[in-house]
Amino acid sequence: MNEEIRNKYEAVIGLEVHAQMLTKTKAYSNDINEYGAQPNTNVSVITLGHPGTLPVMNKKTVEFAIRLGLACGCEIASDQYFARKNYFYPDLPKGYQITQDKTPICTGGSIHIRTDDGSEKEIKLTRIHMEEDAGKSIHDVDVYDTLVDLNRAGTPLLEIVSEPDIRSSQEAYNYLTEARKLVRYLDICDGNMEEGSLRCDANISVRLKGSEKFGTKVEVKNMNSIRNVQRAIEFEINRQIQAIENGESLTQETRAFDALKGITISMRTKEAANDYRYFPEPDLQPLFVDQKQIDAIKSEMPALPRDLFLKYTKEYGLSEYDAYNLTDNKGIALFYEELIQLTKNYKSAANWMMGDVKSYLNEYGVEIEEFPLKPSIIASLIQLIDEGKVSTSIASQRIFPVMLNSNDSPLQIAERLNLIQDSNEDTLKGFIRQVLKENENEVERYRAGEKQLTGFFMGKLMKVSQGKADPKIANSLLRQMLES
Ligand code: ADP
Ligand code: MG
Repeated sequence: MNEEIRNKYEAVIGLEVHAQMLTKTKAYSNDINEYGAQPNTNVSVITLGHPGTLPVMNKKTVEFAIRLGLACGCEIASDQYFARKNYFYPDLPKGYQITQDKTPICTGGSIHIRTDDGSEKEIKLTRIHMEEDAGKSIHDVDVYDTLVDLNRAGTPLLEIVSEPDIRSSQEAYNYLTEARKLVRYLDICDGNMEEGSLRCDANISVRLKGSEKFGTKVEVKNMNSIRNVQRAIEFEINRQIQAIENGESLTQETRAFDALKGITISMRTKEAANDYRYFPEPDLQPLFVDQKQIDAIKSEMPALPRDLFLKYTKEYGLSEYDAYNLTDNKGIALFYEELIQLTKNYKSAANWMMGDVKSYLNEYGVEIEEFPLKPSIIASLIQLIDEGKVSTSIASQRIFPVMLNSNDSPLQIAERLNLIQDSNEDTLKGFIRQVLKENENEVERYRAGEKQLTGFFMGKLMKVSQGKADPKIANSLLRQMLES
């Protein structure tokens, strides 16, 4: 699309995220909540909604909802009522979903994201409420029939609804990245979009820049990755602008994303929307949450990515880039947290995490939990460098690889491999003399004014000393001897 036309418009986006809770059992029954079990094995009469059975609220879901609400700065409602949302679907044997309609457990609050220009922006939340998932209809296993697996029916979900505060597909991408990070830090959801444990519906409209009034919104479903949410939104923004430019009117509708073609397709219009006939759930007792319970959950909250980010940038003087990368993954952040209990060289610790440690993880395709070295041993390597016993490059190239397969301390390894750096001036002067003698031409050129040859001499010096010359001392001795 013409850049000029595109720039006349602004996108308005609100996201509805469903997060499947990592509880042992389902939302309203004792059925096991697990992904990948044999189909239809975790299905009791309660999940099936047989007459005479009664649902019972899983306390863990409430706790998880409060945990997320506290992390987002939401208001936590004290009285929890439940509602029935009625609809017919083959994978919904009860014929209704138990959800929260008028009284969501959390209201308000926000999720902080990075905007396109790198600054921070607060995306406000409308609500977070508790509900249950439906089963799964499987269309691609049997040639003729649709199969139904009810294991997922009754799985606890939190639905996180944002205000229409998001302004671009990139912001939507960043919002989902932050939301996923948050549920993972909180240990309430595994955040796996491919397996469907985190799902997102995107509501999108466009308006002329400067206009206050929202345009007609379209809801897009069916995206199985954060990247695809971004693609769907980008397509939808362009489609809507094009329609308006062509003088067509947009209809409020639900569309599905086709990831192969990269387009959205109409599923149903507002006129055909379901009427869910919400009414209070008669079988489930209201639930009351008191301040004591909220305080108890608050006192056990884990560290949150944004708090760590702020601590690293404000207290430890790390760059935003470093702090963002360290807190991107919970395991990495926790490892770093342990590491900086043992060294005060925050920057060096961050460099090791993002350099050699992450390279190892990438190379072997493993998570930090499977990394063979403890924070304490990385700390002693950092100490070795800080004491001037080895250079950073020797530590990285020669010691670190050996540490991975050894129980010896970095110091023992450095001694065994004869890598302890030489800062003894007499030894260093000996090396320098040798280098100057072997490179008389360069010495002359240096003395004639080619000062940039220092690097050349340092290279030779490192070779002669087998990498053990303390670079700082050697450099100043070298200059002295060249200029004398
Ligand atoms: P519905 O009843 O159709 O689900 P809601 O008002 O509950 O609609 O909003 C659902 C989501 O749509 C929310 O995330 C909200 O921020 C977003 N939304 C509402 N109006 C618009 C709009 N005009 N453009 C984009 N998103 C919107
Ligand atoms: Mg909706």
